[in-house]
Amino acid sequence: MPPRARRWNGWGFDGEAMAVPSRAAAWLASRAPAGVPLVPVDEAACEVGEARPLPPLPGAVAGDRASRLRHACGQSFPDLVALRTGRPLACPDAVVEPEDAAQVAAVLEAAVRHRIAVIVRGGGTSVVGGVTVPPRPDPVVVLSLARLRGLVDLDRQSLLATFLAGTTGPEVEAALGAAGLRLGHEPQSFELSTVGGWVATRSAGVRSNGVGTIDGLVAGAELATARGAWRLAPQPASAAGPELRRLVLGSEGRLGIITAATLRVRARPEAEHGTVVVLPGWGDGLACCRELVQSGVPHEIMRLSDPTETAFGTTLVELSPLVARASRALFGSRRFAEGCVLLLGWAGTDREIGRARTAARRVWRRHGGLGVGSSGWRRWLRDRFRHPYLRDALISAGWGVDTLETAAPWRELAALHAAVRGALERAAAGRGFEIVLLCHVSHAYRDGASLYFTVFWPLRPGRELADWRELKRAATATLLAGGGTLSHHHGVGTMHAPFLPREIGAPGVAVLRAAVRALDPDGVLNPGVLLVDEPLSRATDHGPRITSGEEA
Ligand SMILES: Cc1cc2nc3c(=O)[nH]c(=O)nc-3n(C[C@H](O)[C@H](O)[C@H](O)COP(=O)(O)OP(=O)(O)OC[C@H]3O[C@@H](n4cnc5c(N)ncnc54)[C@H](O)[C@@H]3O)c2cc1C
Repeated sequence: MPPRARRWNGWGFDGEAMAVPSRAAAWLASRAPAGVPLVPVDEAACEVGEARPLPPLPGAVAGDRASRLRHACGQSFPDLVALRTGRPLACPDAVVEPEDAAQVAAVLEAAVRHRIAVIVRGGGTSVVGGVTVPPRPDPVVVLSLARLRGLVDLDRQSLLATFLAGTTGPEVEAALGAAGLRLGHEPQSFELSTVGGWVATRSAGVRSNGVGTIDGLVAGAELATARGAWRLAPQPASAAGPELRRLVLGSEGRLGIITAATLRVRARPEAEHGTVVVLPGWGDGLACCRELVQSGVPHEIMRLSDPTETAFGTTLVELSPLVARASRALFGSRRFAEGCVLLLGWAGTDREIGRARTAARRVWRRHGGLGVGSSGWRRWLRDRFRHPYLRDALISAGWGVDTLETAAPWRELAALHAAVRGALERAAAGRGFEIVLLCHVSHAYRDGASLYFTVFWPLRPGRELADWRELKRAATATLLAGGGTLSHHHGVGTMHAPFLPREIGAPGVAVLRAAVRALDPDGVLNPGVLLVDEPLSRATDHGPRITSGEEA
């Protein structure tokens, strides 16, 4: 089946949308009044400069205006502003779609020979500038993995499946489903993001508490590098020196182009079930999640919303009058006035699920939780891939929307949550507006968990990027100062690159830089992604990149 047509200037597929419910708009407006809607320009009105001449390149090469514009950037807030205002930072001189790994290698070889920068693109869903084309004096091509899709090998005995890098989430699950198997990796970008993109960015899906993040799902990988093909054969474990698969994970296209990955798959579960629990407060919710994970109570999905996200969530759903009354009574009660919704999901046999749910119930009750049934869970499971469409609708209604994510040890989480809220509120007040900040935990480990923030603010004409940049800078500096990581799963891209040295230190940067030099000595792959000062790049301006305040 041919891939569905994608929206050129926002999330998802043409013809699909999610409107902002009037209750949600009113709720937001009472906390942070809407600004001025950013109305998108027509595609024909976008600035697409003249393409610079290129030598003949292998594979399908598109140099038309629409292809160049549609491959100019990803899905970050600055990317969306650029597309809506018709002023992308830069467009590639061409889009190359190799048909197989040999053609990928041939494109890379030609790029090295002619010193052409290559932006590697999977699904193009990066929210950190990972696929945003930088303005450069030299030609730039986007190498899209869109034609490398499908299952190439299934080892049922070892439960290993090898996919081409451009295979999307639904394609992975459809191929495995036909064999009674699944991967279970479901980032919210599942419908568009790809196997290669997941590996390159160390992605995490919503089922990570049960199946793990992509880090644990990758058994092997194949890359095209400027030094030749690099195959890391699938192995269950190995003590043959440092684990180089780990170097490929999170390499964000700087070391080579992933052409295929071998993933650890599992049998499809007989059943799936979930429930909604309301905890009296954020602290109770965090303590409950920690105990569930540390005591080994099995579950596949865990998603705890803070009180603000819980309140916003109730404005997004259409409840029957009876349920709406019950919900108002619950959150209006003294005990649950700061209530936090926890979604818990299980997969397995009915018996396994029953046992796990009983064990979980004992834990949530110890933390004051109240089980409120499974209908909210089913609704969330059904709609979770539709929620990203809301961002476009909110921007069209006058609110800026961005997400930030981190992870930290359990001991730091509550303070980090409060510190990010404080930093964003201060940054916004300094610029004369208010924000609404939502947060949830959706990936938990024995030693800590992720925090995923969504921030809304009023859009001001001509100041959309400056306001965003200030919020982003304040939040990122606070995350790092408070013991959080720069990213739990979105990656570094160009946007976070100036901050990476703070997290990994000078020796860490030296190791990464040495690896890039070893595999891409001419610095043609993804210049400016992951590391700021790419070796041979003459690029200087990545536009919306924020600074860490520590750069020279
Ligand atoms: C609405 C929305 C929801 C999201 N939800 C999640 C989520 O739940 N979990 C999560 O982890 N992320 C999420 N993301 C972020 C993004 O989807 C992930 O980073 C994803 O892994 C990117 O995959 P992609 O195929 O789109 O890669 P791209 O965006 O195309 O590329 C991402 C980076 O990887 C590099 N790259 C891509 N393919 C290859 C390859 N084959 N070889 C080498 N380098 C490559 C690119 O050069 C770029 O630097 C979300 C993004 C959006 C917009």
